[in-house]
Parts: sequence; structure tokens; C-alpha cells
Amino acid sequence: MRGGLPTNTRIVVIGGGVIGASVAWHLTRLGCPDVVVLERGQIGCGTTWHSAGNIVRMSTDPVAVEIYAQSASVVAELDQRHTIGWRPCGRVMLARTQERFQEFETIIRTLQRQGTPVESISPAEVQAKLPLMNTDDLVGALWSPGDGRVDPTALTAAYCREAKQNGARFFEGVEVKQALTEKGAVSGVETDQGQIKCEVVVNCAGMWARDLGLRNHIDIPLYAVEHFYALTETLDDTYPQMPTFRDPDGLIYGREEVGGLLVGCFDREALPVRLSDLPTPFEFGLLNENWDQFLPYMEQAIHRIPALADCGVRTLVNGPESFTPDAEAHLDEAPGLKNYFVLAGLSSSGVTRSGGMGGALARWIVEGDPGMDLSRYSLKRFGPEHNEESFLRQQVRDMPSAHFGLER
Ligand SMILES: Cc1cc2nc3c(=O)[nH]c(=O)nc-3n(C[C@H](O)[C@H](O)[C@H](O)COP(=O)(O)OP(=O)(O)OC[C@H]3O[C@@H](n4cnc5c(N)ncnc54)[C@H](O)[C@@H]3O)c2cc1C
Repeated sequence: MRGGLPTNTRIVVIGGGVIGASVAWHLTRLGCPDVVVLERGQIGCGTTWHSAGNIVRMSTDPVAVEIYAQSASVVAELDQRHTIGWRPCGRVMLARTQERFQEFETIIRTLQRQGTPVESISPAEVQAKLPLMNTDDLVGALWSPGDGRVDPTALTAAYCREAKQNGARFFEGVEVKQALTEKGAVSGVETDQGQIKCEVVVNCAGMWARDLGLRNHIDIPLYAVEHFYALTETLDDTYPQMPTFRDPDGLIYGREEVGGLLVGCFDREALPVRLSDLPTPFEFGLLNENWDQFLPYMEQAIHRIPALADCGVRTLVNGPESFTPDAEAHLDEAPGLKNYFVLAGLSSSGVTRSGGMGGALARWIVEGDPGMDLSRYSLKRFGPEHNEESFLRQQVRDMPSAHFGLER
């Protein structure tokens, strides 16, 4: 031990955001207590702390649906033992067009086949659930009663607390420089405070995962973009159990927040963020409010919730979030470096997918089988050219809005 840092462990998890915390929790639950989590700042100080915390479960892909379902049950389980701000208030997905409504039918069939309760509802039923909403232009909606919201910091803390109880060790203020390797496999990590020998490394470094990967010549194509939500003053007709909503045709989403609303967007032409332009350290950091970028989406929000026109905005939260070139996540073992695993690039659904994806990765490491087909998240779906900064800066601009595309 040096200053508490061990010289040996079995598994090093890099990054103490919601993803690293979930991986550590799952590893210890699978009977592997020999886990060290290294966080260069404080737990949750990256993107996790300012997440909107919406928990969703919607996809036309059966594996993605399974991941969402597993995540939801992890949240429900942790809610039994910790205060994590879980509110199973349900979610309404609005369709302004017939095409969008038909997409919902496909999603509903996939979800129902896998046992997730979900149904289509009429504009009048939307109005009953969300009285402050203008429903005049809606064809219908998808209602997912099991969705909800969670406090992302509290969820991360719950993962950490139980992982620690099960033997994992967490170290804050320790920066990993790179993985150490021998004969094409991981043999340890080099940190700013010395080396730790280990058999397995998991890169959960969020938007910094790409740079960290490059130190070991591993391509992890992802890039941060500005990502926003506004927090408003109080509004009539909001209530604590109010369903969250998404209006994909307007590229907006929202939910109740202390008697007002949180209204966010998945903007077109998103603005890439160069990590070297961020202040160092960037802990619990935010970007400047960017009203020029958000204004078209605020207009969409006012269209959907007319009372917003006369309601003050307390703040516009602008945080960097990393997107991959297809707005999916990376969950894989690095090609060419045995026992170097990656779970990063969560593309704005890291909180909601933490339980399912963390579990799949932990099973892969401990049992040799993630228990599901993860090819959708394979690093091999991209080549080195997709990790070029110029390509990424251009490509990720379309990814937040692709998140709301049809048939995802
Ligand atoms: C405005 C906004 C709203 C969002 N809303 C939602 C939502 O409603 N639902 C949802 O599911 N998701 C949402 N997200 C996305 C979600 O917050 C992220 O996907 C998630 O927090 C990513 O978690 P992470 O652990 O991968 O990354 P992070 O939380 O960034 O954690 C990575 C950690 O790694 C550490 N680190 C980096 N490099 C090193 C190193 N070399 N050595 C040691 N430590 C290192 C960092 O300090 C950091 O703490 C939102 C994001 C934004 C910006």
C-alpha cells in the first residue's frame, strides 16, 4: 500500500461515474470483491451529477429492451435499501405524425413481447395525465408506466456504498495514465501515484475514455457535445408524480422539477466540445449557458406547454455528454488488448442503462459470458478512421437528434 493505494488487485475500474460505480457493484455481487475503482476527481463529478436522471425503456431492439428492463429492476432493488429519488411516475411519448405513431406500435410490440407494460393512448388520455400540455396536434402517444426518474448522484452513491460493503475499494484523486501490458494482455495500470498490478482494466472514463484508450492505441470513438436542459420557475398543473414526457418530433423532453419543469432537448447540429478547451480540473463543471442553441427548442417547449411562455427560467444547464458515431454505447473488450474492457459513450442514456450494461459487462468479466448478444455495442463496428477527431466532430453533431429518430 502507498497512501492507501494497493499495489495489487484483480480488477481496476477507471472512472467513478454512474457507469464505473455500477460495474463495481455488479462485479462484487457476482462474488468478485477484488475490485479497485480509481476516480481522478470525486465520485460522480463528471457528467453524472447533472444528468436529468430519466429512466426509460424504449427501443425496437430486443437486446436494448432487455438492458433497459434489467436497469429498471436494479433501480427498483436499490430503491428498497437506499434513498435514490426513484419516482416510477411513468412516461408519455408523443406522436405528432402517423409515421411516428406507427413506430410506437413497433416499439410497443417489442416491449410487450419482453414483458414490459406499455400501451398506446389517445391525445385525450395524454391531456388527463399532463393537464398543462397542448395536445391539439397529436396523433396519439405511447404510455410506459414503469418509466420514471431517479437522482443520479444518489443512485451512484448507492452503487458505491454496496460495492464497498462487498469489498470493492474506491480511491478519489487518483488519475490513471494508461494500462500496463504484457504479451498483448493487461498487467496493471500506471497512475499519477504509482502502479497497480491487475488482471483486468475497465475503462469507464466517460467523455475522457477516448483519450485514455489512445494511450494504449485503442480506438474508442466518442466525442462530447453540449447538451442542455432548462429549469423553470414553478408552474400550475405540475405535480410530483407527473409523468415524464418526450416529444420526439419537436426534439424535446421534460419532467416536473420542484414544482416547475425541467425541459431539455436533443438538438440538431449539436455543438462538439474539445476536451482540451475545458478548464482543468473539470469536476462538477458546466459549460456556459447557450441560449442561441437552445432557443428553437424552448419555442418547441412553449408550443407543447403554452404556460411556459409566461414562466421564468431559473437556469439553463449545459453539460458535456459524449456521443458515439451512431449514438449507441461502447461495451466491449478492446480488440488487440486482452482484458481491457470498455463501457463508455453512453450517448445520453448512461444513468438509465447503467444497471443493465454494468451487469452485462460484469458477467462477461467474471463468468466469461455477458448473457446477451452485445454486437450492437462492439468497438469493431468502427474503424480507426472513425476515431479521427475531424470525423468525430462532424459526425456527433447529428447524434443527439438521431437519438429521437424513427426506428431506433
Ligand atoms: C444535460 C444532460 C442530461 C442528461 N440526462 C440524462 C437522463 O435523463 N437519463 C440518462 O440516462 N442519462 C442522461 N444523461 C447522460 C448521463 O448523464 C451520462 O450518460 C452518464 O452520466 C455517463 O456516466 P459515465 O460514468 O460514463 O461518465 P462520467 O459521469 O463522466 O464519469 C466518468 C468519470 O471518469 C473520471 N475519469 C476520467 N478520466 C480518468 C482517469 N484517467 N483516471 C481516473 N478517473 C478518470 C472522471 O473524473 C469522471 O468522474 C444526461 C447528460 C446530460 C449532459
